[in-house]
Amino acid sequence: MGTELGNYKAVCSARSTDKDILKRAQDGGIVTQLFTFALEEGFIDGAIVSGPGEEPWRPRPFVAMCKEDLLKARGTKYNLSPNVSFIKEATRSFGLDKIGIVGTPCQMQAIRKGQLYPMGLRDVDDKIALAIGIFCMENFSYQSIVQLVEDHAGQKMESVKKMEIGKGKFWIYTDRGAVVQLPLKVTHKYEQPGCHVCLDYVANLADISTGSVGSPDGWSTVFARSTSGQTLWDKAVAAGCFEMKPIEQVKPGLELVSKLANEKINKNRKTLEERASFGVGKGLRSPYI
Ligand code: SF4
Repeated sequence: MGTELGNYKAVCSARSTDKDILKRAQDGGIVTQLFTFALEEGFIDGAIVSGPGEEPWRPRPFVAMCKEDLLKARGTKYNLSPNVSFIKEATRSFGLDKIGIVGTPCQMQAIRKGQLYPMGLRDVDDKIALAIGIFCMENFSYQSIVQLVEDHAGQKMESVKKMEIGKGKFWIYTDRGAVVQLPLKVTHKYEQPGCHVCLDYVANLADISTGSVGSPDGWSTVFARSTSGQTLWDKAVAAGCFEMKPIEQVKPGLELVSKLANEKINKNRKTLEERASFGVGKGLRSPYI
């Protein structure tokens, strides 16, 4: 595979062995299980996750200190939770010295930038112990999610149990058992414009990155990228936290991850070039492509 998957030390397909986590997780329960293990082992002393906000499916950053807290934040919300902005708060109000944080690829980039040039993260740049990135093709504003769910799918936000993008559709599951699928051509116009110049699908700069693509239903693809990420992953596997399969033995496998990563890069590079042709973002380069 080429550079589209970034640097990584190991990749596999995995799912949590904790039935409770698995039952309530988006896919393989990787983030919830890894943070739970990292908390129990003292690898981190709290994790900044996307917790429930005041409105349904509007996430807000939240510091999870135990498994129950983590379970409250499970699932993908498809609109951004400003987790990076909560790093200082997590050290000051929660006294965290070893922070876990989950986010999109662009949030992983912001964290690494903040560590390299710690103007915004001054005094806290060395407190980030575990950054978990989630595969991301695009994202939406909260208003867009409301329009997709209420206007296009005809469902109430508070009745939604799960949302998912997969197999070329945006899926909405309600707690009354309805499943609505919207074609992605409907959702495209609601995407955040910034996502159209984003060249990272698989969170290249995370310690560990994960997403459902590439693995069978109920499993997740996991990349261990940094040395510390790999160490934690190996310990969690040795402790029996995960069931694991070699990625070469699962369908659709890494080929699909590569295909989607390349599609995102190629499509968004065109947008970058178009913008550069009228003088916007001239000279923009991805740090890893
Ligand atoms: S597509 Fe890129 S810019 Fe948009 S939310 Fe995902 S990682 Fe961030």
